[in-house]
Amino acid sequence: MTLTAAPTDFDELVGSLAIEGRAFVDGAYVAAASGETFECINPSTGRAVARIAACDAEDVDRAVRGARAAFEAGIWSRSAPKQRKRVLTRLAALIEEHAEELALLETLDMGKPISDSRKVDVPLAAECIAYYGEAVDKVYDEVAPTDPSAVVMVLREPLGVVGAVVPWNFPLLMASWKIGPALAAGNSVVLKPAEQSPLTAIRLAALAAEAGVPDGVVQVLPGFGETAGQAIGRHPDVDMVAFTGSTEVGKLFLRYAGESNMKRTALECGGKSPHLILEDCGDLDAAAEAAAWGVFYNQGEVCNAGSRLLVHASRKDEFLERVVRVAEGIRPGNPLDPATQMGPIVDRTQLERVLGYVAAGEEEGARLALGGSRVLEETGGYFVEPTIFDSVSNEMRIAREEIFGPVLSAIAFTDEAEAIRIANDTVYGLAAAVWTDDVSKAHRAARAIRAGVVWVNCFDHGDISAPFGGFKQSGFGRDKSIHALEKYTDVKTVWIALR
Ligand code: NAD
Repeated sequence: MTLTAAPTDFDELVGSLAIEGRAFVDGAYVAAASGETFECINPSTGRAVARIAACDAEDVDRAVRGARAAFEAGIWSRSAPKQRKRVLTRLAALIEEHAEELALLETLDMGKPISDSRKVDVPLAAECIAYYGEAVDKVYDEVAPTDPSAVVMVLREPLGVVGAVVPWNFPLLMASWKIGPALAAGNSVVLKPAEQSPLTAIRLAALAAEAGVPDGVVQVLPGFGETAGQAIGRHPDVDMVAFTGSTEVGKLFLRYAGESNMKRTALECGGKSPHLILEDCGDLDAAAEAAAWGVFYNQGEVCNAGSRLLVHASRKDEFLERVVRVAEGIRPGNPLDPATQMGPIVDRTQLERVLGYVAAGEEEGARLALGGSRVLEETGGYFVEPTIFDSVSNEMRIAREEIFGPVLSAIAFTDEAEAIRIANDTVYGLAAAVWTDDVSKAHRAARAIRAGVVWVNCFDHGDISAPFGGFKQSGFGRDKSIHALEKYTDVKTVWIALR
């Protein structure tokens, strides 16, 4: 079924999807060992759409044992790269075949507009899986340039069991960023989706099995962070955790690793990305469009959201006027309506957090230039309108802490050096953008800003071939590109003495 308008009968739509809420372990859907479940809430109505298995440590242990057994058996880990390529290519094709179903699940689950689920999340997930499938039979091991009395091979080997713990803002895509390279490298994966958004990961497990991923190689365990997430982080037989989520929880995974088996840890965490508009920026309209969508896209629930808008003081008023005009055109609405550009906030907790930051901004003396309120309350959904604060100083909480909602903080600066200083005055370093017509200033800023990605005269552009990830407390380890493949392998030196 393809929706061409907002559904008139919501229950019928939910019924037609036959939503699966159980865990996927060793090739089959199973209830949590405890039998416990929790409700999956649709954030645009506040109503439940499914019950989800609440997996905990016992389920993690079982899934890790199955994943380890599959790894040791070599059915995937020692299969020919071209075999893994065939399977991953088939999985990418299955994601495309099931695109509408996956898009509906994603939108029902976490509230992003169906047009984004269709145009962004699902196709990029398929592209990611295909990319790593295609890559895996094109990377070579090395021979070290030693003395000719030996042949020294530098081999890349899979790690073993990879725990993947992902957030709710791009559920299918974040799962694919982990699963794609981890599987391509030959690992087994135990994936825990966020409790707010488990549906597409649960569905993905069956598609992986259908594509030919052997039993035990992809295990999916829905559940809560403190239970299932922590159990993965502390499990002595998990070799690596690939985590995407908040900086606070990322630090917990470092502790779990230190207190258990010193498992490798790759962290993709939060951000407070600066979006710099230098005095000579020639195309203020394009910059304003990018500044608005850079923070309001996906309801502002984007790790690299350009939530700090740094504008040269001489141009701030005319620029902010333009940003407000763009933002006024972005109205929250039913995310199942293909015309909607902004959906609800993911859940009540996050809604309250966002509104709490709006109140904090006002208390600290920032000027509310647009929005600031919950809207469409009669729907039962958690909608917040695009919100812009002017006269923000970089010391205020709304400039320092990740809000993860549709709130933009505008800060004025007087010269390039001050702009760079403010941009870098943050514990985060995920992304940044600079708008200027001067190529020298662009280069200088791109080098001076401490962030994993710096965009020049654009925002949030990306490609599967370009690495993504942070500096500082935005984490370490990169997703996407061939660099991500490396992190799911270990280097082994094999030294053969020649006689
Ligand atoms: P979160 O840190 O609360 O949760 C992320 C995952 O960790 C979830 O699966 C959750 O269940 C689990 N978790 C929570 N508490 C845990 C605990 N005590 N022990 C073990 N696991 C636990 O983050 P979120 O609210 O789901 O997502 C938003 C965050 O993700 C933001 O900070 C955002 O910036 C970040 N993010 C980063 C990137 C990136 O690539 N850098 C991409 C998307 C989102």
